[in-house]
Amino acid sequence: MRANYKMQRLFVEADLSAGTVLSASPEQAHYLTNVLRLAEGAELLVFNGRHGEWLARISARSKKGAQLTVAEPTRQQPPMPDLIYCFAPLKQGRLDYLVQKAVEMGAGVLQPVATQHTQVARPGIERLRANVVEAAEQCGILAVPTVRESVKLDHLLAEWDASRRLVFCDEDASTNNPVPALRAIAEQHLALLVGPEGGFSNEERRQLRALPFVTAIPLGPRILRADTAAVAALALIQATIGDWR
Ligand code: SAM
Repeated sequence: MRANYKMQRLFVEADLSAGTVLSASPEQAHYLTNVLRLAEGAELLVFNGRHGEWLARISARSKKGAQLTVAEPTRQQPPMPDLIYCFAPLKQGRLDYLVQKAVEMGAGVLQPVATQHTQVARPGIERLRANVVEAAEQCGILAVPTVRESVKLDHLLAEWDASRRLVFCDEDASTNNPVPALRAIAEQHLALLVGPEGGFSNEERRQLRALPFVTAIPLGPRILRADTAAVAALALIQATIGDWR
């Protein structure tokens, strides 16, 4: 079932069941009561990434906070998407964008990867998580992706589970069309790897191409910025072998 876009949606950490009373965080309370000006009795939707989506009502509000009472379930918890999205972190504004778009496009795990030309070796994990939650709230996504700690590319590849195929966006590929390579790996567990603004080094590209669990794909005849490449690659994967079929 698609999300109800007319109602405000709020991520909460607490377990959810009928009758549960929740305290909104100070930021959430400020947003609900001062920005949206919701009154006592107003309805909204809450989710926690585990127990589906629930209708809740503002049962008390004061200057400092708001209390929500959970009423009834509205949507069941869906399974987490199987797709792991591996990305070289970008500078802040574009990293926020990249994370939000990956959530919208159906990534289940976000894995920052430090490559030789990565601009930001250790992105703030809390900020990445905040962007994940914001995208989930806005787009009605109930399976809230996990954010992993950043790892070096060498380490990622050394520890890789070889039963999962790693689709690597190779800006130096010899063709323009990614579709045949993607169709050849349908029905497998998948991960996607997109490089940093400076691209992969020649050494990294050689290393990736030599691995049996890696499939290199092009993204057309033009070089895309890393955040554009991520959205393009996720759309291609979902449309050819993912959950848009
Ligand atoms: N090498 C260029 C440079 O020096 O700036 C561009 C790197 S590109 C901005 C960042 C990443 O997006 C690449 O590492 C690659 O993963 C992906 N990418 C961009 N355009 C691509 C294309 N046409 N084909 C495949 N991957 C692409």
